[in-house]
Amino acid sequence: MKYQIPKGLFDILPNAKESFKEVNRWQYLESIINKLAIDYNFEEIRVPIFEKTELFLRGVGATSDIASKELYTFLDKAKRSMSLRPEGTASVMRAFIENNLSQEKKFHKLYYMGPMFRYDRPQKGRYRQHHQLGVEIIGDKSFEIDAEVIDMLVTLFKRLELKNLKLLINSIGDLETRTNYKKALLDFLKPNFENLSEESKARFDKNPMRILDSKDERDKKILKEAPSILDFLSDAAKKHFENLLNLLDKLDIKYEVDSKLVRGLDYYDDTVFEVVSEKLGGAQNSLGGGGRYNSLLKSLGGPDLPGIGFACGLERILQTMIEEEVYFPEKEGPFLYIIPIGEDAKDFAILLAKDLRHHKISVDIDLNAKKIQKSLSLADKLNAKNALILADDEMQKKVASFKNLDKREQQEIKFEDLKNFIRDKFYKL
Ligand code: AMP
Repeated sequence: MKYQIPKGLFDILPNAKESFKEVNRWQYLESIINKLAIDYNFEEIRVPIFEKTELFLRGVGATSDIASKELYTFLDKAKRSMSLRPEGTASVMRAFIENNLSQEKKFHKLYYMGPMFRYDRPQKGRYRQHHQLGVEIIGDKSFEIDAEVIDMLVTLFKRLELKNLKLLINSIGDLETRTNYKKALLDFLKPNFENLSEESKARFDKNPMRILDSKDERDKKILKEAPSILDFLSDAAKKHFENLLNLLDKLDIKYEVDSKLVRGLDYYDDTVFEVVSEKLGGAQNSLGGGGRYNSLLKSLGGPDLPGIGFACGLERILQTMIEEEVYFPEKEGPFLYIIPIGEDAKDFAILLAKDLRHHKISVDIDLNAKKIQKSLSLADKLNAKNALILADDEMQKKVASFKNLDKREQQEIKFEDLKNFIRDKFYKL
């Protein structure tokens, strides 16, 4: 029996050249994200990867694709319906309410990173388990907060040196705006109903605004003439959007207003935004996006606090980085690779390694060393910085040969000086 990974999943490996599946790249991206969170003063929150199914149906919205079609749902042993999380916001809101976080303070900046699960047709940039960075700001509905969240997303991509990206932004207003707009949109679409794609026909009654999201070419042609939601914004929503765009201008953040951007989830109000890559192309070109949700917490039984957030897909970010050939740091190898030939040398090496590791110096030993040249090429493969050769000659003379693998320089060090010599070299780095 050959075991294979389920469809749409992938392993992240120590070595996967030219691919986003190399762990080194993930660690680099994660380090940039963690620093970004510090710089914007966000606190990390970690929530479980599965929840009761009803949370996602309520939180994400039962008519959204990810809740209606893509949820990984199972019954636990007590026959309760559970689902793997398809996104993070619903769980974060649940945790916020359940742990009474609003009692401690009314304003929160939270972020999370981790796997999400969606049962969808796997293809490049679309996996059944993918990873997201998500952020949520709870407790402030001002346009300045919208700008801060958008700035954070744009700064992430800047720090990763990604180019060829476009920030799309729109306002879908408040409930009154959307009620009026939906009516106008339905009036517009009715005479064209028969020409719509099957998917859009299904959305016509359930969630007509999602038709604007359609990637179907026939739909897109029809939608060209559709009324724009921006003409339906209430005074308050219009002011919020204008203020936001002005602030983005001041912050020198480039954007494109896209009145057809509605985003897939049901809970948004006012500001919605998305960053797309011109390199990824096709339906999988969205690197991240988000929006404001002023009534979500309350609708889940929590306090009446507004929120805004975004989520971005780490696989797509890494894929875009690779396609744009941006900088990734080289994989760090051990500071020292010890090559002992013979049993005495091996005993000596093991004790030396213990001492150096105790001083937080990274060391590895070739316990099967037989030929120095072969071990040296192993050291190169590992990206080790230095090698320490302990062969018969050296053991007799009580010296070790220290070799700098970058400069290919070698020197002999007496055993009694060895620990200090290596510690000095390491801490002078
Ligand atoms: P969404 O919650 O659908 O807005 O997703 C947020 C981000 O996660 C998207 O912009 C993508 O970058 C990424 N994403 C969503 N679904 C998938 C998937 N199935 N596979 C890989 N990345 C995904």
